[in-house]
Amino acid sequence: MEKKFETKAIRTQIERSQFLEHSVPMYLTSSFVFEDAEDMRASFAEEKERNIYSRYSNPNSSEFIEKVCQMEGAEDGFAFASGMAAVFSTFAALLESGDHILSARSIFGSTHTLLTQFLPKWNIGHSYFKIDELEEIERLITPNTKVIYAETPTNPGVDVLDLEALGKIAKKHQLILIIDNCFASPYLQQPIKFGADLVIHSGTKLMDGQGRVLAGITVGTKALMDKVYRFSRITGPALSPFNAWVLSKSLETLGLRVDRHCANALKLAEFLEGHESVNWVRYPFLKSHPKYEIAKRQMKLGGCVVAFEVAGGIAAGRKFFDAIQLLSLSANLGDSRSIVTHPASTTHSKLSLEERAAVGITDGMVRVSVGLEHIDDIIQDIAQALN
Ligand SMILES: *Cc1c(COP(=O)(O)O)cnc(C)c1O
Repeated sequence: MEKKFETKAIRTQIERSQFLEHSVPMYLTSSFVFEDAEDMRASFAEEKERNIYSRYSNPNSSEFIEKVCQMEGAEDGFAFASGMAAVFSTFAALLESGDHILSARSIFGSTHTLLTQFLPKWNIGHSYFKIDELEEIERLITPNTKVIYAETPTNPGVDVLDLEALGKIAKKHQLILIIDNCFASPYLQQPIKFGADLVIHSGTKLMDGQGRVLAGITVGTKALMDKVYRFSRITGPALSPFNAWVLSKSLETLGLRVDRHCANALKLAEFLEGHESVNWVRYPFLKSHPKYEIAKRQMKLGGCVVAFEVAGGIAAGRKFFDAIQLLSLSANLGDSRSIVTHPASTTHSKLSLEERAAVGITDGMVRVSVGLEHIDDIIQDIAQALN
């Protein structure tokens, strides 16, 4: 019988060393030695799978990658120093000059900047589609389109995109479907089941979940991951063994933590929905969410992020942030500490006013990454700040 998610998260482990350690130790080594001349030759010729140099592979990264592959149902993966290193290296490995990316408009701020300001340097173009207009995707496909790219739930608007529909479009047109699954984590949603070829994560968020390390990972089919590996082993965006070790440990408690994140987030969303100083609330598992049915179909729970708008515009918004006492004003998410962010002046400040409007970011919008403190204390702090 196939092991369940929680069991895989704990029992997926690299081979024990001669010391028979129970928990995997850290392999803080830049390189590995060869037995003899033949071993050296065969290793470099890739006739055997073994560690040579930690820019290519390392036991700690291998353990982290294997866990995420098991969780996502993927064949292979590569671990990166950050989520953005994963996004950039994946694009750079798969795309050539002249290629075109079809991307959802609501994507992480740095990914947007990568598409608009840097990939054009190598003549890689893009078009954006709106999440509400999936039919439009087929009209936007050009002969040069190679990749469809999207995130769900989206940041910071917590919109939800129909993965099954997207998977069908990608398959019909033989395009590579890449999903940034960072907001859901593999515990809540596995895009490969719906037809994604590659899944990207910022390990910095829910995977570590305790705000300690930066990390990224791409997993997917063997054929595509081989290209990502070829590019990455030469260009050097590899994850450090120390961070990989931290992440493998963090994944052991991912399910437990995300269960509580989601339970807290739903309670906060329900509280906000009834509050007179709040214009609207967006959370995938609130019945009022426009994509509630889709969210229920593809996600186990609603995630850790709640978005809402403080009544009274930008001035009221600033007052709200200044009144917060317990929660952190920060830009991270998926941390055990609850975090409140003002997207318009922070994570999405590089976007023009029109671009922000197009992805639904208003001046009074607040994004809360709901943490693992007791829910009564989280609600109490937000309630007093709203008052
Ligand atoms: C944070 C984030 C990234 C980038 O990850 P880093 O580890 O900060 O480089 C990419 N996508 C999403 C959805 C994110 O939230």
